[in-house]
Amino acid sequence: MTSDNVFLKIIERKIPARIEFEDERCLAFHDINPQAPVHVLIIPKKVIPAHTDLADEDIELLGHLHLVARRLAEKMGLHRGYRLVLNCGPDGGQTVPHLHMHLLGGRSFHWPPG
Ligand code: AMP
Repeated sequence: MTSDNVFLKIIERKIPARIEFEDERCLAFHDINPQAPVHVLIIPKKVIPAHTDLADEDIELLGHLHLVARRLAEKMGLHRGYRLVLNCGPDGGQTVPHLHMHLLGGRSFHWPPG
């Protein structure tokens, strides 16, 4: 694993983060620039730069990330609902080239997104 992006540095504890959950496959930590009262990023430890890089072998990992998101939403009291966002590529608004899911909650969100 190489520390060539900020999320890999967080996984490797080279830079700090407010970590909410960790297991052998993923890490969840608070976004440094929160867009809602709850804004947690859930990332795989496996190096997957973007959604377009997902492979058949990642199917269980993806399911795991979703279950971690569901459990975190419950733990963080998001009983009225929440939003999961996964930005991909320049048009999708992705700024960090390491697959990540945003768990947003604690307020209501509009649709369509900006
Ligand atoms: P995206 O635009 O989907 O690539 O999301 C990247 C997210 O990472 C943004 O919401 C940033 O605020 C967040 N972010 C960037 N650097 C850090 C950091 N050091 N710790 C926590 N979150 C970060």
